[in-house]
Amino acid sequence: TGPAARGAAGPSRRAGAARRTRPVDDRIDALLARMTVEEKLGQLQQLSWAFATGPGNPDNKKVENAARAGRLGSVLNMFGAEESNRLQRIAVEESRLGIPLLFGLDVIHGCLTTFPVPLAQAASFDPAVAERDGEVSAQEARSNGVHWTFSPMMDVTHEPRWGRIAESCGEDPYLTARFAAAKVRGYQGEDLSAPDRVAACAKHFAAYGGAEGGRDYNTVDVSESRLRNLYLPPFRAALDAGAATVMAAFNTVSGVPAHGNGHLLTEILKEEWEFDGVVVSDWNGVQELIAHGFAADPADAARLALDAGLDLEMVSTTLADHGKQLLKECRIPQERLDDAVTRVLLLKSALGLFDRPYVKEAAAVAAPTKQTRAAARAAAARSMVLLKNDKGTLPLDKAAASIAVVGPFADSADLLGTWTFPLAQEKFRSGKVLDAVREAAGGAEVTYARGVDPAGEDTSGIGEAVAAAEAAEVTIVVVGEPPAISGEAAVRSELGLPGGQEKLIEAIAETGRPFVVVLVNGRPLTIGDWLDEAPAVLEAWHPGIEAGHAIADVLFGTVGPGGKLPVSFPRSVGQLPVHYNHESTGRPYAADNKYTSKYLDLPPGPQFPFGHGLGYTTFAVGGPRLSTTRIDADALHRGDTVEVAVAVRNTGKRTGDEVVQLYVHDLAASIAQPVRRLRGFRRVTLEPGESRTVRFRLGAEDLGFWTNDPKGELRVEPGPIDVYAGNTSTTKAKATLTIG
Ligand code: BGC
Repeated sequence: TGPAARGAAGPSRRAGAARRTRPVDDRIDALLARMTVEEKLGQLQQLSWAFATGPGNPDNKKVENAARAGRLGSVLNMFGAEESNRLQRIAVEESRLGIPLLFGLDVIHGCLTTFPVPLAQAASFDPAVAERDGEVSAQEARSNGVHWTFSPMMDVTHEPRWGRIAESCGEDPYLTARFAAAKVRGYQGEDLSAPDRVAACAKHFAAYGGAEGGRDYNTVDVSESRLRNLYLPPFRAALDAGAATVMAAFNTVSGVPAHGNGHLLTEILKEEWEFDGVVVSDWNGVQELIAHGFAADPADAARLALDAGLDLEMVSTTLADHGKQLLKECRIPQERLDDAVTRVLLLKSALGLFDRPYVKEAAAVAAPTKQTRAAARAAAARSMVLLKNDKGTLPLDKAAASIAVVGPFADSADLLGTWTFPLAQEKFRSGKVLDAVREAAGGAEVTYARGVDPAGEDTSGIGEAVAAAEAAEVTIVVVGEPPAISGEAAVRSELGLPGGQEKLIEAIAETGRPFVVVLVNGRPLTIGDWLDEAPAVLEAWHPGIEAGHAIADVLFGTVGPGGKLPVSFPRSVGQLPVHYNHESTGRPYAADNKYTSKYLDLPPGPQFPFGHGLGYTTFAVGGPRLSTTRIDADALHRGDTVEVAVAVRNTGKRTGDEVVQLYVHDLAASIAQPVRRLRGFRRVTLEPGESRTVRFRLGAEDLGFWTNDPKGELRVEPGPIDVYAGNTSTTKAKATLTIG
């Protein structure tokens, strides 16, 4: 795409705009005509139910009174068929218009059956994992009165310090988009009114993952092109998959808080993308426009948020408190208010709430089942990434005579990860690694020593762990992050293993006996000097309810590891951000040249790159074969594609999984392009000696990009594009496609 050719591609078009016309619902128009201003503002209000305390709590009384007065549209944090029916009955039977309430809850990676954290799921490189999580979650939630989940989270991020990376799909927009769409399908199915479906919420719109320094809620200053190429594609994919709602982000975006950002919420979301669903605020996010220094007072915040395109206010009450006055003073337009109310009512209608406001109490799911546990176990095993495996240390030999299991998470039932329910934390905790190893290891003598605390500095237990390791044929060291230091507002400035855990690994290494390290964590870690000493390292993330079984499945090779990193693992915090999809500098020289972009005290690149992951067998992945080496930009715009065929063969001795990955790099574009962009992936299972040809299609959206044009034209420019294939993002195998 040389400068001379630029512009020759003809007018660029917006790709694949999903035309969504608002469903006509006469009942809603009739209802709207009967509503008072207070009742309309009520529909735009969501209040939180204090879960643990029940109806006696004074705040919960306020929720009930608001429902009775017709001053409430939605309730957050309600769970339970009986409880939710009781509150629903107040709205439906005691309020003037009987409009049902909409119950929303954060069901992020499971409800009763906790699946691995979303970052782990992304590591499976298998969107079916997320879809299954969505289906199981939807059934457990809806049968307990929940209509709407605040998920999937799709904030692309290059910041492992940010605790919410655990809720994300990592550093890549394409991978995130595929997972976001799958999760939406899982939650919503074909029909939102079905008794086992919930409405999804694409969040957080937008660029929340770009917070400065990874500090939660922090400033994001981003160009239009980066916004559109990096942060927005997953949202677009989620909406194309039918996501019913979108949540605004806590951060500012180039100076304007997302909750008051008309460019984002109206120009892009509602006009350009024709989104006809509900835009909900984040918790107190409208009120926070004041702290941002954007709104003068609550009335101003209400006006700015509504004006920007927000429809439903979570927790703060600026619209309910000031909307009537604002309307009287003509400071908010009646049409905007009516539009917001209509969106909320249409969602209730799509959920079938006007016809069936209650759930069947007898049908409420009370506990995980054999099937949902099996799904969570398979998902967790599929999510694990084998980072290192020297001398075939893994899989472990089931016939081993003795195994030591050590570390602060070996005997832990606290491996569900962030955003889990009180009920799951109390009753449906994680299976323990120690128990599962005992079960799986047949006749082996299994010993246990905790060694160190998960976070404290006390290392006095290391001696016992060393003794156990010395007496065993092999040792499993289970270390990581307590879930409490991963998730919202859980930002870390250091990314090593907390407390004395690294000392524990070093002490085990000094025994000279074989051992494997199993990591249970919610974010990339800096793996220090111990990496050289550890023969094998398995990244298991926070695996959920079936943690123990899933880890044992992979350690003993019942399931071969086949996951890949959805995010780079840095060598050090000082190197951040480090990600595969960076741009080239003007001096991309070899590391031995002083004048290149590098740190004096670090080798270039991450410790482990995006897309990395080993297995128990080996694969040969061939180079990309293109169906044509030249294609017209116009043909691409018309929908033509280029086929890329990649051969993959299992060259080892075991059946195993490989993820074939496809990347592109536009060599000369009007906006400098990332050195690699993931454009396709497929996880395949092959027997020893078996080969397969995996086929991908590259179209306009895969080869094009967005510029700084605020109107969002996708550009497909003439010129050469390198197409790479392989089993990691650092693959060298390529072919060149020329766009004419
Ligand atoms: C989070 C949202 C979540 C909301 C409701 C906020 O703090 O940012 O992701 O949906 O709380 O629980």
